[in-house]
Amino acid sequence: MHELSIAYSIVETVSEAAQNADAAKVNKIFLKIGKLSGVVKDALLFSFVIGAQGSFVEGATLEIEELPVIVHCQNCDKNVELESVYIFRCPDCNELTPEIIQGKEMEIVSLEIEDKAKHESANT
Ligand SMILES: [Zn+2]
Repeated sequence: MHELSIAYSIVETVSEAAQNADAAKVNKIFLKIGKLSGVVKDALLFSFVIGAQGSFVEGATLEIEELPVIVHCQNCDKNVELESVYIFRCPDCNELTPEIIQGKEMEIVSLEIEDKAKHESANT
């Protein structure tokens, strides 16, 4: 399952970033995944729970935003959103649209962390 290796790399990247930012813990991780990235959202959510076990980000929530596929239609000279990831044709004019503008993304957008100072004052 390749989502598991993605999950581990997210855990690694986020742990490092959060610790560099002096975080006490990570609450949320915001991700963007394009529909052409080949990543299955549910599989990634499941894998993340496994991958995060015993790590710095254990207990953090993954917030995944799925990005639709956007291609450029040369005939219409505009960017259009595809209904299906299997048919690369402009929905307006039916021309082939091989130029992909968006949809292959797989990126960590931002983190919601609790910093140590705040955490300590909350406990005292
Ligand atoms: Zn078109």
